[in-house]
Amino acid sequence: MVTFDYIIIGAGAAGLHLSMALKKSGLLKNRKLLILEPSAKDRDDKTWCYWEKNSGNWDHVVTKSWRKGEIVAKDTAINFDLKNYRYKMLRSIDFYDACKDEIAQEKNILWAQEKVTDCQENQAYVCVKTNANTYNSSLVFDSRIPSKFYDQNDSIHLHQHFKGWYIQTKKPCFDADFFTMMDFTVKDKNTTSFTYVLPVSQTEALVEFTYFSPDIVADQTYEHHLKTYLKHRKINNYNIISEEKGVIPMSSFDFDAFPSSRIHKIGTAAGWVKASTGYAFKNCERKSQEIIDYLKADKDISKLKKPLKYKHYDKMFLDVLKTRNEFGEDLFYKMYSQNPIERIFRFLDEESTLTEDLKIILSLNSSPFHHAFLRHLKRGLQTS
Ligand SMILES: Cc1cc2nc3c(=O)[nH]c(=O)nc-3n(C[C@H](O)[C@H](O)[C@H](O)COP(=O)(O)OP(=O)(O)OC[C@H]3O[C@@H](n4cnc5c(N)ncnc54)[C@H](O)[C@@H]3O)c2cc1C
Repeated sequence: MVTFDYIIIGAGAAGLHLSMALKKSGLLKNRKLLILEPSAKDRDDKTWCYWEKNSGNWDHVVTKSWRKGEIVAKDTAINFDLKNYRYKMLRSIDFYDACKDEIAQEKNILWAQEKVTDCQENQAYVCVKTNANTYNSSLVFDSRIPSKFYDQNDSIHLHQHFKGWYIQTKKPCFDADFFTMMDFTVKDKNTTSFTYVLPVSQTEALVEFTYFSPDIVADQTYEHHLKTYLKHRKINNYNIISEEKGVIPMSSFDFDAFPSSRIHKIGTAAGWVKASTGYAFKNCERKSQEIIDYLKADKDISKLKKPLKYKHYDKMFLDVLKTRNEFGEDLFYKMYSQNPIERIFRFLDEESTLTEDLKIILSLNSSPFHHAFLRHLKRGLQTS
């Protein structure tokens, strides 16, 4: 039985952000960290995009960043200049490789390619069993989604689900300085669905057809809408270089309901995916830093919870999308046409002031929201 000070289960976005933050913090000077991950993390399995102010920790491996973008909804293009913010695109393989390089330089981090099969806590430590070994640690960070999430529960569940093509065109078809966050011109009827376009050059772009909806669709359905969208943009001559598919939970499930001072959930398993948008990458970095601040101050990390007001906002947003899925286009049109992009980013980053919240909430004023608010009151303002 080998003992570590910290064990991280899962070397995905959350586990790796936390490893990097631990390394940077100085906490590993006289402490040992073990990372347990069954896969080699040598595949480019997703493309992460996120916004952040000015420069960031991953700029040296970012594929592309944009200062200007648009939302197309209700036949209107809403253009935005991100000012101090940049929207950045990072391939997962570049992130994994950069983290592996950093880990290799730190003698107090051990990475074992093993799958965790059991994790038991007692008063003094946590015992972690894998397919190959057993380890002890006083603190475990766990990326595995709690099984209760998959049980029937009263939470509102939707998915951000999508399929995308990385395409190459013969002729210049894209403005490489300008990305499309959501284009509702081509939609699957009665759903919140849109196309997302990330041009890397005039002849290359990642084009994804995306839903915020309760039900997943067949591959052919995403492909049909991708083809329709490209035709609408008069892009007829292209090669598909690679594909990307994903399903991200958008849920009001109470991920904070697993308080333990020794096993701390991280990432998707901790609700770090913003319920109303599906974004998580930057949250993983932010939340990892919060953990470090708590550890350094010797505070109980089981007290780290999502701010309550955002649980209420997210729940009502999900309620509207669940009960009136066709209303998404109106909703995003209202939000992006009536608020500057910096205010929207601060709100989605859960850093907004009450005044900013009110401005965003008032801009969404509509009968589906009134009904969602009444249902929320009726359910006793329950956040999960
Ligand atoms: C295709 C796709 C694209 C996305 N794009 C974006 C985006 O553009 N922007 C954004 O902000 N978010 C995006 N997301 C959402 C979110 O950022 C990612 O899902 C992110 O990877 C979540 O981080 P995580 O660490 O919780 O999960 P993961 O990155 O999935 O990592 C979990 C890790 O745990 C490991 N694991 C599982 N079981 C065990 C076990 N028993 N023992 C040990 N290890 C285990 C897995 O192998 C995996 O490596 C995307 C998600 C997907 C699926």
